Amino acid sequence: MTYEDEEISVPPVTPQTPLGLFGTEALIGEEDRAIRDTVRQYVSDKVRPNLAGWYEEGAIPARELARELGTLGVLGMHLEGYGCAGTSATAYGLACMELEAGDSGLRSLVSVQGSLAMFAIWKYGSEEQKQQWLPRMASGEAIGCFGLTEPDFGSNPAGMRTRARRDGSDWVLDGTKMWITNGSVADVAVVWARTEDEGAGGDGTGGGAGGRAGRVRGFLVPAGTPGFSAPEIKRKMSLRASVTSELVLESVRLPDSAVLPDAVGLSGPLSCLNEARYGIVFGALGAARDCLETTLGYARQREIFDKPLAAYQLSQAKLADMSLELGKGMLLALHLASLKDAGTLRPEQISLGKLNSTREAIAIARECRTMLGAAGITLEYPVMRHANNLESVLTYEGTSEVHQLVIGQALTGEVAFR
Ligand code: FAD
Repeated sequence: MTYEDEEISVPPVTPQTPLGLFGTEALIGEEDRAIRDTVRQYVSDKVRPNLAGWYEEGAIPARELARELGTLGVLGMHLEGYGCAGTSATAYGLACMELEAGDSGLRSLVSVQGSLAMFAIWKYGSEEQKQQWLPRMASGEAIGCFGLTEPDFGSNPAGMRTRARRDGSDWVLDGTKMWITNGSVADVAVVWARTEDEGAGGDGTGGGAGGRAGRVRGFLVPAGTPGFSAPEIKRKMSLRASVTSELVLESVRLPDSAVLPDAVGLSGPLSCLNEARYGIVFGALGAARDCLETTLGYARQREIFDKPLAAYQLSQAKLADMSLELGKGMLLALHLASLKDAGTLRPEQISLGKLNSTREAIAIARECRTMLGAAGITLEYPVMRHANNLESVLTYEGTSEVHQLVIGQALTGEVAFR
């Protein structure tokens, strides 16, 4: 018998999901898995059917969603007390993954609410501030936003121009914040401003044109405060199912009780960013997983020439490479989650995860789009919506370049930001 005559017998193979191939499920505890599955079910039943429409319109029912997400228990879910669920960091990460498998805008709503606005109040607020805001924010009755970025200062928030000056026992805030998620729908804005009267030098983080007038402090600005407005930013090509706004502060007068007493210096807002970045480590992988699973399904159905797209070697090479990156990203994310649950996760380790997940997720989304051909450019499939969203996710919470610099500093001891 010649070799050509031989049948190579291959047992029938049941297709596996990319993460099934990696067996990452075995690394997740039962309780965390149950929380994840509940969020997955919610996204699939209540959110997914509406996403293409919201994205196309560039509008979401934020208030209704916040209520539902509050009932689901995901708002501030990793915080303890004040109506928060107090789950593990792993469960929080997995929830972010499921939310972003729906849409990065949905995960952004939850991240900004829980990791930025609620975390800032939970960590740095007075007891009175916590009692006033946290239970309502956990239930989704009140929405929060977090204003750090300014038109001229994104990667370098130390240069901020927003100022807080004393007037008697009050504070008066002036300045503009830009690209603020949830801004126009928020009941309370956590606004970071540099004070003018706490001594030159301050926290030593004064940068560029903003000067070194004083320390960076956080203020709680309720919606409707005279002089405060939050116009929505329109015509976005990315994160269209999310509210993004400018915050304008014109002589906004606040009582002394509006300042977050325990946040002094830029380390306050930066610690909040670390919380949100951690969620993105998982979230971006959710978007990538959704792209890859959609594409696998499509490639099995789509006949090209005389067989399914999935049966071509070039397709399989793409699918194998993308699955490898998704699985490696998931292993890193779960490792970082274990460190966070153990209380030892360091900021530069979060940078490793944020850089890897966002960079690989956008590469996967773009590659998946090629496999869908023309169909990939429509909202019939979630792939290009995810790819477009991931442009924002790559940029916010520290751009890829900023995270490379954080990692570079950790490796070399040299600061290369300026
Ligand atoms: P820039 O800082 O101007 O950066 C421009 C380019 O320069 C980037 O490629 C950057 O990587 C690069 N760069 C920067 N520093 C260096 C360096 N040292 N060396 C080399 N290259 C460098 N902000 C908030 O405060 N709250 C929010 O809720 C919020 N939501 C957002 C939602 C969306 C949809 C988007 C798009 C942004 C949001 N942001 C928010 C703002 C976001 O955090 C900033 O856009 C981000 O920090 C980058 O700042 P920038 O856009 O000013 O870019």
